[in-house]
Amino acid sequence: MTRKEFLKISGGLGALGFMPGSLRSELTARQIGMTESQPKVTIRSVEPFLMPDNTALFVRVTSSEGVSGWGEANRKQARIVLGMIHQLGGRIKGKSVWDTEYLWNYMYFKEVDAGQNGFLGGAIAGIDNALWDLKGKLLKQPVYSLLGGPYQDRVRVYASYGRGTNRPKSAVEMAGIAAAFVEKGYRAIKVRMQIRQLNKDPNPDPSPEVIREVRKAVGDDVTLFFDANNGYSPFRAIQVGKELYEKYNIASFEEPVAEHNYRGLAQVAEALEVPVTAGEHEFNRWQFRDLILQGKVDMINPDVFKSGGITEAMKIATLASAFDIPVMCHNTRPTLSTAAALHFSMSIHNAAEFQEYGGEMRETGLQKYFRENLDYKDGFITVPRRPGLGLEPDEAQIEKDKIN
Ligand SMILES: [Mg+2]
Repeated sequence: MTRKEFLKISGGLGALGFMPGSLRSELTARQIGMTESQPKVTIRSVEPFLMPDNTALFVRVTSSEGVSGWGEANRKQARIVLGMIHQLGGRIKGKSVWDTEYLWNYMYFKEVDAGQNGFLGGAIAGIDNALWDLKGKLLKQPVYSLLGGPYQDRVRVYASYGRGTNRPKSAVEMAGIAAAFVEKGYRAIKVRMQIRQLNKDPNPDPSPEVIREVRKAVGDDVTLFFDANNGYSPFRAIQVGKELYEKYNIASFEEPVAEHNYRGLAQVAEALEVPVTAGEHEFNRWQFRDLILQGKVDMINPDVFKSGGITEAMKIATLASAFDIPVMCHNTRPTLSTAAALHFSMSIHNAAEFQEYGGEMRETGLQKYFRENLDYKDGFITVPRRPGLGLEPDEAQIEKDKIN
């Protein structure tokens, strides 16, 4: 049988790639049982909502059916991200709400000259997460079901808190906060030193004293993560990581060196026994590829409101799974961002034991914009089984309070 004869009689999906576009869509629709009378659900509008004090940048995508999905975009450089959301919204208006994979690549490659880092990934994330919420609402399914999950019914979370930069908290204050987290049922805590590059290699170094007091306050059974927030040179990071692991049993050393220094990161990861984590400054699959291959990290922590949203995060997780690298979501916001992170982490088989929860970090006042909130109890968050991301926004209140 010739190739042409085969194509004539097969009519199978395998042959569709050779057919003209119009015939292809007609055949595909027929073969999967759709009728042509079913309306196409398209994107009617994409609207950003910047909340007071830049505490959140929400995105509403409304479909031609009138149903809306809500997502959260990166609030850093909020006005620039907001402008990019308008730009991307104009590009995808009228396109199908179901095509999240195509739309992600369409948005990214149309605007890639904006740069791979930062605000482009953050803007796409807001729209992408809203589209997943929308698809779930239209299909009456939670997002984790659409992603092929869940691997777990509830997610174990860790409390994350920082030392502060204007008036850094003392070791005793940091220990007091850690003890309060343990009282609330947390079994894992992350201490963020917020040293950063402008204050690199501080002398005297506050980290050993802070971690000593925190370990004393929480006892030996609590998992303790340590985040230097990019504050060390490689040689100093190796000294600090060795000391904190051997004396206080830290379970992860996050961002030991500057985010662009993959060579230094690899030096640290190879020198230390404690797992080295990074990923909150990577914004797409290609950057995570370099982080893994060049930075040689042991664990990654992508953020679903920074690195392109759920669609891209799933690719990043698959990439990491090929290296047996666990994924521990970075997540500093308590509402839609947390919901997106939880649906994502429930749907991947290489989720780390603990995921970050930003709800305890500080009072953002964002919970009041939702009729129901995420249920934290005894170290776990139970993810809503409601359609979409499972949070119901108070749209009137968000529209009233927005500052854009
Ligand atoms: Mg961090």
